[in-house]
Amino acid sequence: MENWTKNDIFLHQLVKEPAIFAQATSNIRKANLPQMEVSSAFGKFLYLLAKMRGAKRILEIGTYYGYSTMWLAKAVPQNGQVISIELSERFLNIAQENINAAGFSNKVLLLHGDAAEVLSTLVQDKTEPFDMIFIDAHKPSYPQYLKLCLELSKPGTVICGDNIILDGELANLCNRNPKAENLRHFIEELGKLDLVESTALQTVCAKGYDGFTISLV
Ligand code: MG
Repeated sequence: MENWTKNDIFLHQLVKEPAIFAQATSNIRKANLPQMEVSSAFGKFLYLLAKMRGAKRILEIGTYYGYSTMWLAKAVPQNGQVISIELSERFLNIAQENINAAGFSNKVLLLHGDAAEVLSTLVQDKTEPFDMIFIDAHKPSYPQYLKLCLELSKPGTVICGDNIILDGELANLCNRNPKAENLRHFIEELGKLDLVESTALQTVCAKGYDGFTISLV
């Protein structure tokens, strides 16, 4: 059988990552920047989720070099929009270049700043609610992001929170560091919401033991 390699079975057979996305990742590796983007399989998952939802408006918190942003942009129709927030000006510039190269500049709006502050501004500006929200930024801020994201949601909004497992430390209650504590708080808050149904999935992938929450408003 062709194209079956030990590590990339899903990548070749199912994910079929666009070459321009792989090029963006390759550039990041060459620059020795950290591997903190979603895996290609998870990028495809976000793309499928957005398509299943029929999402036209997507909000992303944490752009990095725009990898998941590109998957989301690929999923929305021509008149759709992905708004993505990034703290680092350096990463934002790299992301914008990648998005331009992939031909998504008309679908993607990158916003620079602290995510909680930018989200507060979007709420104050009465921004039209989003169909889907992907939270993938500063982990200790997830509870704060959640509150603000709910203000930017409507019935039917899908909210996905990435990297909630911390290699199993989430369940190690002796670990009281702010990341673990606040992710536990995030999950508790999700569970308390009357109008939001949620679950969490644990994943083992190229990036190790991880997981995400998924919620429907
Ligand atoms: Mg992530």
